[in-house]
Amino acid sequence: MVDLKTLNPNQLVEFFESLNHDKFRARQLMHWIYQRNESSIDGITEFSVSLRQQLAKRAYISNIELIDSRTSKDATEKFLFGLSDGEAIEGVLMPDSGKSTLCVSTQVGCAMGCRFCRTGSTGFKRNLNVAEIVDQIILLRRMGRSITNVVLMGMGEPLANIKEVSDALRRMTTLMGISPKRITLSTVGLVEGIEELPLIAPPVNLAVSLNAPTNEIRNKIMPINRRYPIEQLIETLRAYPIKRGRRITFEYVLLRGVNDSEESARMLSSIVRGIPCKINLIPFNAFEDSPFESPGHEQILRFQEVLIDRGYSVFIRKSRGQDIAAACGQLRGNRTGTYGNRGKV
Ligand code: SF4
Repeated sequence: MVDLKTLNPNQLVEFFESLNHDKFRARQLMHWIYQRNESSIDGITEFSVSLRQQLAKRAYISNIELIDSRTSKDATEKFLFGLSDGEAIEGVLMPDSGKSTLCVSTQVGCAMGCRFCRTGSTGFKRNLNVAEIVDQIILLRRMGRSITNVVLMGMGEPLANIKEVSDALRRMTTLMGISPKRITLSTVGLVEGIEELPLIAPPVNLAVSLNAPTNEIRNKIMPINRRYPIEQLIETLRAYPIKRGRRITFEYVLLRGVNDSEESARMLSSIVRGIPCKINLIPFNAFEDSPFESPGHEQILRFQEVLIDRGYSVFIRKSRGQDIAAACGQLRGNRTGTYGNRGKV
């Protein structure tokens, strides 16, 4: 049996041709799956009963399912999605001034082991396939949610699953009506992936989870830095083809006494100098047994000021949905007792 949601447009045309149907059937099917969010072959009433019966003998439409959801006082919604093999992933929907941004997962668990992230401390289970990635959007749209923007910052490192992720990005931009300008992929800095992404995926925005201005500090909190040290990462970003009017986002989780000094801010300003960028400061969201604390508000403002004085656009990320455990991993953790926090969100 073929899962029709895993087939790309060309493969769908071939599939219908193999059944002696015209290729416009593939276009109709894609419209029903990606625009009308239909979850079953039987629901595609534009197809005759006999065509639906013929399809059902050879194929199906996979669906992730909603296991749990919570809504915060600030309207942030957190979702726990179930996958066909019993695994679970999370999504967070953040409405804000006319926009509605969905944070999407790309893997079950994560192998990167960032020390400020609970998801990272629990290890990697498997990659999501293209259908499981786009279905996070499709399911919520079917539930009546509007999604204007997408950030690939949920569970997992998107560039460690680059093939399925780039397929999913193509579906989002060509079939689901989401502009690449409204999609952001966040990475810890897998250099080969950053080089490959613009060659195989639509021109989405790039965010880099940097979190430290020196290798000494970054090695302590992000094991990936031993493989791709800061100099190599920054050099790769300098060569990255940034579209006119766009900027790379540097994410920087502030950890008290680790990377939050004014000296760190000054060093950060010099290493990213010359790269069209903005900097998002993320006060650490503490979780049980985490070895870190968030700096006080005054220290966060001082860090921001050093960067602003040097000409950068610097934003302090609001913590969303704290009353519903909206930091990545927490809803899943409440269910399984193993997951708990996420630095990138
Ligand atoms: S911050 Fe992202 S890349 Fe790092 S461990 Fe957590 S999920 Fe993985």
